[in-house]
Amino acid sequence: MLVTTKDMLLDAQKNHYAVGAFNVENLEFVMAVLAAAEETKSPVIMQTTSGTIKMTGLDYFYGMVKAAAERTSVPVALHLDHGDGYDRCMKALRTGYTSVMIDGSHETFEDNIALTKLVADAGAAMGVPVEAELGKVGGKEDDVEVEGESPYTDPDEAREFVERTGCTSLAIGVGTSHGVYTAEPHIEQDVVKAIRAAVDVPLVLHGTSGVPDEQVAEAVKNGICKVNYATELRQAFTKGFMAYMAENPTCFDPKKPGQAPWAARKTSTPCVSSSPEALRLGAFFIGRGSGGSELTGGASPCSGAAPFRQMTPCRCPVPPCPPRAFAALGDITFGNAKRG
Ligand SMILES: [Zn+2]
Repeated sequence: MLVTTKDMLLDAQKNHYAVGAFNVENLEFVMAVLAAAEETKSPVIMQTTSGTIKMTGLDYFYGMVKAAAERTSVPVALHLDHGDGYDRCMKALRTGYTSVMIDGSHETFEDNIALTKLVADAGAAMGVPVEAELGKVGGKEDDVEVEGESPYTDPDEAREFVERTGCTSLAIGVGTSHGVYTAEPHIEQDVVKAIRAAVDVPLVLHGTSGVPDEQVAEAVKNGICKVNYATELRQAFTKGFMAYMAENPTCFDPKKPGQAPWAARKTSTPCVSSSPEALRLGAFFIGRGSGGSELTGGASPCSGAAPFRQMTPCRCPVPPCPPRAFAALGDITFGNAKRG
């Protein structure tokens, strides 16, 4: 079932875990993310950047993710990542996205507030959560590039920003960067804690690809409720695709290399391609957060169903499973992050 991110993130905040938000680029990404969410029985956010939907349009991804959500019992949300303006956000809302981000972080503080409030008001009227960003995440996210150092988000500004805009979650600058890190990333945990203490909405970490799991887990412990991964997935898919073609140069069926990066994880055995890269996408989803492969189910009415392997709808007797059922399972995704 396609759900909004509202309950997901509030539950994550209340129970001290984080929901994974994964950028999807094509059908294979959508299927791989869904498969991993089912296997770990975790709620999941699939998201598209403005750059991705400039190529395809919003409706393609809405169609794919809606189909994915309807064949599963885990809560799935479709989120617009880095919405690059009011119009883009409104189009996403009209298309059926169940969550949007307006990124006004490149604007002045006041202009960011004005833009974010416009979108947040529209989202509130439609019952759709709106993520905003204050402070800058460094690096390049599609067409949106941030130059220079990553300034940390100021906690006092964050408090004022949330109060004045009505945004329902906040992406903060705490040292992470988009794209590939050229130096060891460092999350400034004290800043996370200070912002957590200053604002009451769920906090979002961008640019998580490449950040050591321990740092991510610590940030989740300190108050992050949503973590965004894009680059690692892009690398995994592309490398897996290329590895398959290198091993099967006469192959002309795009389905085969397209599925190679995640088909491997379906059986938990090496697929036709034995390349580590080919296994990476699946391993990424399952292994992320350490201990992620440990199913500690029981709380979920879906435990026992194995919808992924057969790729058939979940046999859950009360579909869709209420998000609460997954609360206790949140630490599956970020196993070592759970507080206490
Ligand atoms: Zn981002």
